[in-house]
Amino acid sequence: MRYGVFGDVHANLPALQAVLAALRAQRVDGWLCLGDLVGYGADARACVERVRELDPVLVGGNHDWAVAGRLDLDWFNLAAREAIVWTQRVLPREHIEWLGSLPLLHEHDGITLAHSTVHDPEKFDYLQTPYDAFESFRQMRTTRGFVGHSHVPITFFEGPAITYSMESPLQLGPARSLSNVGSVGQPRDEDPRAACGVYDTSTQVLELLRVTYDIGAAARAIRAAGLPDILAERLHLGR
Ligand code: ZN
Repeated sequence: MRYGVFGDVHANLPALQAVLAALRAQRVDGWLCLGDLVGYGADARACVERVRELDPVLVGGNHDWAVAGRLDLDWFNLAAREAIVWTQRVLPREHIEWLGSLPLLHEHDGITLAHSTVHDPEKFDYLQTPYDAFESFRQMRTTRGFVGHSHVPITFFEGPAITYSMESPLQLGPARSLSNVGSVGQPRDEDPRAACGVYDTSTQVLELLRVTYDIGAAARAIRAAGLPDILAERLHLGR
């Protein structure tokens, strides 16, 4: 299988459309989605519809669960909270219930998906350090794992010491691995282009893609929706 891997869409339709086109051009034949379809951005309904059409293997994120009332809003900063409340207003009930039904951890085809960490998915901690990866490897039952949430692309490898790589393409090889392919709709590694990945199960190669998209259109939609300006601004900065 060639999986298109993506997550942290955050209701950014121009970014999602660009990513799906780039992944289709890579001839992917399956989809892995790491959650957070909504929150921050202004295209909640269209993004949920596009992702549901793909019928991906997917997990839910903290923003998805918050919109569905499964996570306390105190958990979020002010701008994020405003976007969640706005999303609850504009998203049809049926989509909200669907978001709330998404699991936080899922195994498929020898691959574990989690939005935050494999070891404590309901705590929504970031998997950012070798120690975080060590904790998740202890709970992970598969060879491969993908996470989202930090919006920063990186792969950790299990071994006598945990190592990591940010290279692409990356041969994942025999060691167990946990990868983050970055965020579609709100990159935070100071590269404002949308991020996603292609994982080929036969070659075991993970390729990270960066895709240019119409950031101005996404920012205008956020301002037109009356959402906090910072949510528009940060898209241009990639953080
Ligand atoms: Zn996110």
